[in-house]
Amino acid sequence: MKASLDYILLIVGLMALVDYALAQQANLHTAPPLADDEAHFNSSLEAILVPRVVGSRGHQQVRNYLVNSLKSLGFQTEVDEFKERVPILGEVTFANVIGYINPQAQNYLALACHYDSKYFAEDPGFVGATDSAVPCAMLLNTAKTLNSYLAQQFRNRNDLGLMLIFFDGEEAFRDWSRTDSVYGSRHLARKYSQMPNPFATAQGRSSRHIDRIEVLVLLDLIGARNPKFASFFENTSGLHTSLVQIEQTLRASGQLEGNNKMFLNRPAGGFTDDDHRPFLEENVPVLHLIATPFPTQWHTPNDNAANLHWPSIRNFNRIFRNFVYQYMTRHSVPVDLRFRHK
Ligand SMILES: [Zn+2]
Repeated sequence: MKASLDYILLIVGLMALVDYALAQQANLHTAPPLADDEAHFNSSLEAILVPRVVGSRGHQQVRNYLVNSLKSLGFQTEVDEFKERVPILGEVTFANVIGYINPQAQNYLALACHYDSKYFAEDPGFVGATDSAVPCAMLLNTAKTLNSYLAQQFRNRNDLGLMLIFFDGEEAFRDWSRTDSVYGSRHLARKYSQMPNPFATAQGRSSRHIDRIEVLVLLDLIGARNPKFASFFENTSGLHTSLVQIEQTLRASGQLEGNNKMFLNRPAGGFTDDDHRPFLEENVPVLHLIATPFPTQWHTPNDNAANLHWPSIRNFNRIFRNFVYQYMTRHSVPVDLRFRHK
């Protein structure tokens, strides 16, 4: 990538965002709409934390639970259902679940995770607590705790909408490959790339619905003790820095538990394949919040409720809720973090 004027302007814009984040730090607080709602988190997690392999009864139950939860939180819902042949199980029905607030807005902040659990022939009880039941409950809890803001000040804004995306079929059925993985996100990225953008006639606006996503924030493998998150992509490093700063500020004011610094102010180095790949390939900016190293219980029978670390989960919820709130409250004009290829 060559530095172009556009890119330099983009960096200046990012720096302004970061400055603004700094200026807002004094305003961080946990009063509504930023107060915890742990009972809601726990009940959401309980509903999701069941075996939910694509095509199973648990999968259908969780899918229904996500749709109903989104509706009760005031989201307009979309179920992107499709059939596909997969290794081992044959033809299965996938369904991405998407919720929108302000679907009419020019652009969106998209928060995402996957809700399917991995198929293990020898472990039919696998529940994938960190992978990704906890991230799904975190997205719902973010919407729940911000609900008064979302339902009032945020509602009917035209500059920004909020999307929650629950991808289906992230897991490989046999061995992870480009074709045996991320079934749902590949389907949705293709669909949104082909859908027109109603704002396309405005000057400089993309013709594709997918380009209305300013950033796709993808949560994965969260819920184990003391996670670490580094920044995977240069174009969203400013947003990652906001998370670092929010964590610092909440800790300094005694609002976090323990001493683990989860958001590291450094590049991750390398790429971890996940649901963001099809969106990245369409040049959607991505903030990938995946714990590295992976939790030790990853893809083992131990990835269950007994091995979750509640202080880390509560801390993540607090930091992430503040981050989403700041993004929405300081947004007024389109934020364009896309990589420029010239
Ligand atoms: Zn997995």
